[in-house]
Amino acid sequence: MAETNIFSTLIAHCKEYGFVFQSSEIYDGLSAVYDYGQYGSQLKKNIRDEWWKSMTQLNENIVGIDAAIFMHPTTWKASGHIDNFCDPMIDNKDSNKRYRVDHLIETFAEEQEALGNKDLAAEVIQSMEKLLMVNDYPGLKKLIEDNKIKCAISKTCNWTDVREFNLMFSTQIGSVAEESETIYLRPETAQGIFVNYLNVQKTGRMKIPFGIAQTGKAFRNEIVARQFIFRMREFEQMEMQFFIRPGTQMQWFEYWKEERRKWHVSLGIPNDKLRYHNHVKLAHYADAALDIEFEFPFGWKELEGIHSRTDFDLKQHQLYSKKKIQYFDNDINEDGRPYGNYIPYVVETSVGLDRLVLTILSLAYEEEKWNKEDGTEDSRVVMRLPPKIAPIKLAILPLIKKDGLPEIAKDLMNECKQSFHCFYEEKDAIGKRYRRMDAIGTPFCVTIDHQTKEDNTVTIRYRDSMAQERMPIEEVRKIVEEKIN
Ligand code: ATP
Repeated sequence: MAETNIFSTLIAHCKEYGFVFQSSEIYDGLSAVYDYGQYGSQLKKNIRDEWWKSMTQLNENIVGIDAAIFMHPTTWKASGHIDNFCDPMIDNKDSNKRYRVDHLIETFAEEQEALGNKDLAAEVIQSMEKLLMVNDYPGLKKLIEDNKIKCAISKTCNWTDVREFNLMFSTQIGSVAEESETIYLRPETAQGIFVNYLNVQKTGRMKIPFGIAQTGKAFRNEIVARQFIFRMREFEQMEMQFFIRPGTQMQWFEYWKEERRKWHVSLGIPNDKLRYHNHVKLAHYADAALDIEFEFPFGWKELEGIHSRTDFDLKQHQLYSKKKIQYFDNDINEDGRPYGNYIPYVVETSVGLDRLVLTILSLAYEEEKWNKEDGTEDSRVVMRLPPKIAPIKLAILPLIKKDGLPEIAKDLMNECKQSFHCFYEEKDAIGKRYRRMDAIGTPFCVTIDHQTKEDNTVTIRYRDSMAQERMPIEEVRKIVEEKIN
């Protein structure tokens, strides 16, 4: 199946099985906004919990916070988002469709590469990166025109000039119109960490190096919203700011680059589906930056960003708030004196939770076909989700709805649901119920049949191999617990 087909099949599957729905679908939806259904929200929570644990529980020097989405408007002046959080855009005059310039050129390069014009593709990307680095907008327009890059809708080359658009959403705070003030929906969670740096450092008596982690919603008015939950206008980030001594940033940048890749692998993402991409054009706050990219069904794209943000943010907040943001480091330096006062440097790790959900879903989805013993073909759709993040861990299925089997099944359900998410179902043939559990990625099913009444054993069925084995009913909870941990 072509990759784009696999992707649209995955999107349809996510809807059919309660993972992801278009937001406000009954009103025809809202572009680039999505809702997570009963299984999607649980999968997302399980991934978020894994991240939270890996950051705040397994690192003694990292603590978590939960800052508000609304922040004082000066935050965004200080951080540079009001002046700099813009993307260069271009409109096609015939279709009125607006494109992010880098996306338009990248798509052209991908098409050229697919046609075998590798040199041209590389050349165009190289020129684009050079022009973006110096914000040469007339140069970018010329690059588009020289290569006759066309609008996907009008198929013409009739372009406006390249212009900048700010990506922040604004709203009003305050009940009376005259007293209200413009505030922004945060475009990243990081600033909630920076403005709380002093609070956390002092109340937690944190010693450098230390980190502050946070998960939460972020909002960006993405002009070109595409690729399902890859690029949304409301999304969730999991960010960690690691505060360090100035001059040590490259060492910590390397450290977190490795650690974060290892974490993705621990979540079941194959190492060869991940790669680093160093930024050529650095954001206004960074002295080094890279993306951890994943090979999505539509190509290699950013999953997580690692940024060395220097002391830019804390310095700016010190300037705008007029509050001293300094750390006194009494460790002894090479000259035998304490390092003394400084504004800490920061290495940031920032991963999109929704992109991670998409990563996990696209790796898990499989359409499997095989020949049965009688020579006929059988098939199933299976989500091979890693058991530790699967939304439902165990399905408990009485073979039939009578003879006391549901009662035994419900007793097992009541026992197991204390430890992990279970699903009880007594309707339909057992094979059908197994298929439904395969489609949502439930790793284990237990069937209670008449033999259970005689010898207290049940059949456990494994999602991936479809193998079945009998075991004593009192061992089910322990076995599943072992396998999901
Ligand atoms: P991109 O280049 O794809 O727009 P970015 O470089 O602007 O992403 P960052 O500002 O580094 O992204 O944000 C950190 C992480 O947040 C990204 O790696 C990504 O996983 C996630 N993210 C950013 N924008 C979106 C979005 N619109 N929808 C979903 N996730 C997003």
